[in-house]
Amino acid sequence: NVSKEKEVHEAKIKFFTMIAHEIRTPVSLIIGPLEKIMKSSIPMPAVLRDDLNIIDRNSQRLLFLVNQLLDFRKVEQEGITMRYASQNIRQLLQAVCERFKPFITQHGAHLEVEYPDADFTAMVDSEAITKMISNLLTNASKYTKDKVVLSCIVQPEQHTFVVKVTDNGIGISKEDRKRIFKPFFQAMDNKPGTGIGLSIVKSIVESHNGCIEVESEINKGSSFIVTLPIEQVGAEVQEGEAGVLNPAIPEDILSETLPVMSSKNKPLMLIVDDNEEMLNFLSSSFSAQYSILTAEDGMEALEKLKEHEVTLIVSDWMMPRMDGVEFCKALRADQSISHIPFILLTAKTDTNSKIEGMDCGADAYIEKPFSVQYLEACIKNLLDLRNLLRQKFSKMPLVPLNSIANNSMDNKFLTRINEIIEQNFSNSELSVDFLAEELCISRSGLFAKIKTLANVTPNELIQIVRLKKAAALLSENKYRINEICYMVGFNNPSYFAKCFQKQFGIKPGE
Ligand code: ADP
Repeated sequence: NVSKEKEVHEAKIKFFTMIAHEIRTPVSLIIGPLEKIMKSSIPMPAVLRDDLNIIDRNSQRLLFLVNQLLDFRKVEQEGITMRYASQNIRQLLQAVCERFKPFITQHGAHLEVEYPDADFTAMVDSEAITKMISNLLTNASKYTKDKVVLSCIVQPEQHTFVVKVTDNGIGISKEDRKRIFKPFFQAMDNKPGTGIGLSIVKSIVESHNGCIEVESEINKGSSFIVTLPIEQVGAEVQEGEAGVLNPAIPEDILSETLPVMSSKNKPLMLIVDDNEEMLNFLSSSFSAQYSILTAEDGMEALEKLKEHEVTLIVSDWMMPRMDGVEFCKALRADQSISHIPFILLTAKTDTNSKIEGMDCGADAYIEKPFSVQYLEACIKNLLDLRNLLRQKFSKMPLVPLNSIANNSMDNKFLTRINEIIEQNFSNSELSVDFLAEELCISRSGLFAKIKTLANVTPNELIQIVRLKKAAALLSENKYRINEICYMVGFNNPSYFAKCFQKQFGIKPGE
């Protein structure tokens, strides 16, 4: 079924592109600062510099892979537009080899090169041809035994030149040779890869009106032979400087602003700061674990909280219209959002400010400048602590419901819920809707709030409150188990015993 197949293919590509985009930003943010460090004149021990070089090489490689995926998407959607210019091929090959030598050596092989004449030029898109040779060299170094040969021979009579990449590795079987240029094809015992390198190579070759062949023998090695015309008849030629050989990080990535990301499964973090750069920096730092929502001041943040279910708030203090402290106070005073963990960032360091910061109800207070790892650690601690509280509450029979409150608003809320449930143990109307109405909160608001506070649904919470009351009554030793069972709203003692044991890990009698 062709259309079905196409659909699956489309879905695959979409998925890869999405991932690639997500990865590109953090990788760029590794490379950017890293280059700054490496270029700085700070004295640095040689070992450290070596390590930085390794990080640099590997992040470049990661960026290459990611860009490869995005290239592929572009090729699929719109075909490649070539920008032809007269290019000195020897120079181009030298530049590629320069970059590849360490990579090939790393794979335990050595590279031999046969260059064309120093003055040989051809009409090519140098960036595309660089990409093509890079892909062939990558494969050759992955699959070779110990040798990779890159050669370029000019055939003036045919008006062509041939670029050949040969290895003495595992080889490719006859059936596979027909399929390796298809996207996503990888032979059985292949090394890690994406299976799209050769499909990109093929589109580049074809866009240059050339052809590619492969010769191979199992366990002897493979040769990829690319034949390209020296001239491009009727092609649009770029004026001036030939293309870039070593594409740097595109500007658009570094300045990319991160809008609301709508990844369904990730928790939502609200970042509030009037400094755009800070917003971007924090967004990209946390976009791996969180979906990000941003606001420029407290007012905007409160508006956004009406529409989104936020898991965590990181907010600056000094902001126009409504500052962080005012924002936090407003949050803590609103029953429907008072449960959200709040981290306040600030440049104020005097003790009074710190006290004011904590007094407003923030869960943590972090001074600027801070390291992202520190902020991450604080967030983790905060969430772990809340988790611990929730577990303690749900597993220990005598720990009361309001023990999971983090502030007075939530304390009031939980005390009230507990009361309503206890007063209605025998009321058959006791349900989620009933609770929501009594608490003057929307049904979805109730779900979200109870989920964050106790990590259970409202119905599960009702059940837990029944069982907790039962535990408290049991510890008084005034009633028999069966009596208590009915008192807290169960109509079946054996079902009651089962639920009790499941919740607390002990039998009611114990
Ligand atoms: P990737 O290398 O990312 O898997 P490619 O499209 O570059 O994707 O290659 C497709 C497949 O072709 C590889 O998985 C590998 O099985 C095979 N292949 C490519 N080059 C070679 C080579 N030089 N020697 C042996 N097999 C190769």
